[in-house]
Amino acid sequence: MTNSILKALREGLAKAECDAFCSIAPPTNQYLAGFKGTTSAVIITKTHAVFLCDFRYTEQASQQVKGYEIHEVAGSLPARVGEWLDKLGVKTAAFEPGYLTVADFESIQKNFEGALKPVSAIVSDLRQIKSPDEIERIRAASALAEGVLADLTAALDAGVTERDLAAEFEYEFKRRGASGASFDTIALFGPRSSLPHGAPGDTPLARGDIVLLDFGCRLDGYCSDLTRTFAFGTIPSPWFDEVYELTLTAQTIALEAIRPGKTGREVDAVARDLIAEAGFGPNFGHGLGHGVGIEIHEGPRLNKESDTVLVEGMVITVEPGIYVPGKGGVRIEDLVVVTKDGCELLSAAPKELKVLGR
Ligand code: ZN
Ligand code: ZN
Repeated sequence: MTNSILKALREGLAKAECDAFCSIAPPTNQYLAGFKGTTSAVIITKTHAVFLCDFRYTEQASQQVKGYEIHEVAGSLPARVGEWLDKLGVKTAAFEPGYLTVADFESIQKNFEGALKPVSAIVSDLRQIKSPDEIERIRAASALAEGVLADLTAALDAGVTERDLAAEFEYEFKRRGASGASFDTIALFGPRSSLPHGAPGDTPLARGDIVLLDFGCRLDGYCSDLTRTFAFGTIPSPWFDEVYELTLTAQTIALEAIRPGKTGREVDAVARDLIAEAGFGPNFGHGLGHGVGIEIHEGPRLNKESDTVLVEGMVITVEPGIYVPGKGGVRIEDLVVVTKDGCELLSAAPKELKVLGR
């Protein structure tokens, strides 16, 4: 994998009129070099692929990083990157502006005689299109998280708090082999489910509550992301039934609309228009979906502004939601990979409205 990625990156460098690329961003460096630690640098020139880390990671790098010269450095990592760029004779080094702080930029530049040039998305555009191996890792992460969902929802009892349930998810992720949650687990009960990204609190679960769960784990360096909304004990109200069915229909027709050549905006509009026609337009205030991979939120985006054209191999979420303050909310989110003529679900958890705890 590394070779084809480096080839594509070097083509990008030529196009951007740069003779090197440098990064100290963990997601970029995991993608380029396979390293899963938190502190490292990668420098790619036409002829060299250099990996820098400090003493803490030298042994780990020798196991994980293939196809790079590995050098142990000490002190300021950005300063060492600047020195190495000079050592390699680099004149213009590309960097990803979304992944380098101004302070680190200044530190590299202070130690480098050439120029640093921001080249947006030079690596993240490559990362959007997943290899078969990456797709299988994301599928495996989703399967692990869905196993936790099935077990915890089957055992759900009245009185458990949102905080307890969220913590149980994260404990089970780790116990079952994930490195952790891919983002802070969202568990919201009753009217609190109208908070699209609410933080779990001390609310205890009661009969007739909506239960909104948005969760994912990180397994083998790749993230999963899934949302399911349930009722507990009994259907909260006819209103909930209606909103649930509308959300599910919006998701279904959006999934059917996904195929190579469509833009993120076009797919978003399919779900958004249906929800708006039913009178809930203002209650769906976020985008329809996002890419998932090494990071939980990455390209491409499905939203009102996204011009990104879908390509086979992109992994995206499709997550319409309807939120009514004071009453509650419904979100249904799945992970899919764009295929030659449509998309394939990477998540398999059932979606028909389910009443838990009975
Ligand atoms: Zn989610
Ligand atoms: Zn999501």
